[in-house]
Amino acid sequence: LRDLAARQTRLAALTTLAAGVAHELGTPLGTIAVAAKELQRTAERLGADGFAVGQDAALIRQEADRCRRILDQMAGPAGSPPGEQPEPLAWEELASALRAALGPAEQARLDLRLPPGASGPVPREGLLRTLRALLGNAFEATSAQGRVSLSAEGTDGGWRIRIQDQGVGMSPEVLARAGEPFFTTKPPGGGMGLGLFLARTFAEELGGTLTLDSAQGRGTTVDLAWPEAPHG
Ligand code: ADP
Repeated sequence: LRDLAARQTRLAALTTLAAGVAHELGTPLGTIAVAAKELQRTAERLGADGFAVGQDAALIRQEADRCRRILDQMAGPAGSPPGEQPEPLAWEELASALRAALGPAEQARLDLRLPPGASGPVPREGLLRTLRALLGNAFEATSAQGRVSLSAEGTDGGWRIRIQDQGVGMSPEVLARAGEPFFTTKPPGGGMGLGLFLARTFAEELGGTLTLDSAQGRGTTVDLAWPEAPHG
């Protein structure tokens, strides 16, 4: 129990620091991404002469996308900016917000299966951040052409969002620890090990659950489920 309390104190301090750093890095990262896009365009105009530069520019954009995902993960303790109120979110709006947040390569790999209508009441930014973190994991676990799906549906009295990939999957040891704060198998700089933890916190704060199903070589399914519409 002492260990748990110590972890929570460490987590609280770190998330405050992380949110500040994420905020400060957001603007320069945006500039880098825009400049790399311009460079890519210039390289395309140069044809064969610009090929190597174009490839490097594409790499800069791809890595900037990755940094953006890490920053998003760091930006808010439970995925939501403070004080955000739950409101139903039209699935159509969720789809465009997600597409806007993804790079073109990832957009092309994403299958969105959303019903007509809207979700149950949910803090909008919190949900978007949560889904971006989970999609980021799914894309990272999948080969460059691999597809990732995000589907949503109403359940009896509630609703559910499922993110599914057919990527590398998790070993039983990793699956058992996934979602512990700071647990990551990614190399330094690759992830903070907070994505699943914050996603679960977000789901549970709204009275829901996060369930993981994963096997090595088969892929991973993450279910966020709210058995009934959460209250305020
Ligand atoms: P991070 O992404 O920073 O490592 P997460 O909490 O999001 O933190 O994930 C923890 C670990 O769980 C990852 O390092 C990875 O080993 C595993 N994991 C999460 N999502 C997936 C996935 N879709 N496929 C395979 N492994 C995953």
